[in-house]
Amino acid sequence: MTAVSAASAAYIVAGLLFILSLAGLSKHETAKAGNAYGIAGMALALAATVGVVAEDISAIGLTLLVVAVVVGAAIGIWRARVVEMTGMPELIALLHSFVGLAAVLVGWNGYLSVEGADGGSSLTGAEAGIHSGEVVIGVFIGAVTFTGSIVAFLKLSARIKSNPLMLPGRNWLNLGALALFAVLTVVFVVEPNLLVLSVVTALALALGWHLVASIGGGDMPVVVSMLNSYSGWAAAASGFLLGNDLLIITGALVGSSGAYLSYIMCKAMNRSFLSVIAGGFGNEGGAASSDVDYGEHTEIGADEVAELLRDAETVVITPGYGMAVAQAQGAVADLTRKLADRGVDVRFGIHPVAGRLPGHMNVLLAEAKVPYDVVLEMDEINDDLAATSVVLVIGANDTVNPAAAEDPSSPIAGMPVLRVWEAERVVVFKRSMNTGYAGVQNPLFFRENSRMLFGDARERVEDILRAL
Ligand code: NDP
Repeated sequence: MTAVSAASAAYIVAGLLFILSLAGLSKHETAKAGNAYGIAGMALALAATVGVVAEDISAIGLTLLVVAVVVGAAIGIWRARVVEMTGMPELIALLHSFVGLAAVLVGWNGYLSVEGADGGSSLTGAEAGIHSGEVVIGVFIGAVTFTGSIVAFLKLSARIKSNPLMLPGRNWLNLGALALFAVLTVVFVVEPNLLVLSVVTALALALGWHLVASIGGGDMPVVVSMLNSYSGWAAAASGFLLGNDLLIITGALVGSSGAYLSYIMCKAMNRSFLSVIAGGFGNEGGAASSDVDYGEHTEIGADEVAELLRDAETVVITPGYGMAVAQAQGAVADLTRKLADRGVDVRFGIHPVAGRLPGHMNVLLAEAKVPYDVVLEMDEINDDLAATSVVLVIGANDTVNPAAAEDPSSPIAGMPVLRVWEAERVVVFKRSMNTGYAGVQNPLFFRENSRMLFGDARERVEDILRAL
């Protein structure tokens, strides 16, 4: 068996392992096995690819390849070990940007090595046309993914403001860029040349930047999953160019699962899928209403909260990003056990975009060994909130904001939220009166039945545990 046919066989097995990985990752119980399948598939794919490439390249080339793999793996392992749970989304955004950049480089390399910088193509007829089409489409998707992911990284890591960039006629700018790309693709396929490829690259870099910059803070979860999908299509485009079937399969798997995740997130946030793809859908509402006067808020101490909980029949905990920052999940789990031991009915209400990545809260609660059966989705718990004695809002803000349901001019209007304000009493754990990720003030804090418990969420929960 030649190295190439052995690699083809390995690619099929790796492709199957990736499918098993995705299936495993879709449930808590099987997520670990899913990860293991993914690692095995990727190890096999890498070994097979290195095996095929090693046949045709010099010893220096092979050494460089091995060094690149070792250095890349070392950096990857180091980053994955040190990253905080709260830093995951930005790390993922940064990794998507690498896929985009790789697709751009593969595209450029495809052009330079086949058509040659002097324009003399080594391919003829339909083959040359198809190759040029692969180059220009791969470079376009890659460049959009590259700059889009960098803006997402900068926004998620708070290095730039998460407010949407509102250029006049932004939808026309996006449409114009797409129309120009279509024209340039035809020109490039007919007459491949360096100038057109450079213009397409610059256009796509600008479009990627603009698409993500136009999307407002609260809608960033959809952007992350959308870029995930784009990075998959960019990889698939590279697969066509390199004639690598596994890259095409993997790219298509990532592209379509990312698109499906975006669709689920859009449904959860009541946004239209098409307007996300068009970019800038997050700013139809008014400006951030942080300067509206909602009146006075009322503070409460940990001892009083302990008192409330002691008398409560039913308690619902709605965690958010602040629970992750404070690493309060362990203390929250202890509180849950203590209350349950006293006969209080304690459940969790999880908003689909709570935290900073899909499933963020579920992962933290699972880590703290909170039983799955008391952790309910937003839709499962929302109707029970009106009959709940006490809701503890632990570091959540946008996901419990009544303005989303009641104020059509709010930037987060229409986003489904946990209706915690319907409960008899609401206690909000946070450090200050600052806004959440979307930069929108939260009228919940000023409601008559709301009490603010200021300070680090973990310390405050521990205070309550002591008082109990
Ligand atoms: P928010 O980001 O709206 O609010 C978190 C709150 O936690 C803040 O108001 C902050 O207030 C408080 N907080 C921070 N640190 C601490 C601490 N140590 N102790 C106590 N409180 C703390 O969180 P939500 O989870 O409600 O909403 C998620 C937001 O993030 C949504 O807008 C969502 O769209 C967006 N998003 C979600 C992603 C996802 O995939 N899930 C990805 C990207 C964005 P203070 O500073 O006063 O303490």
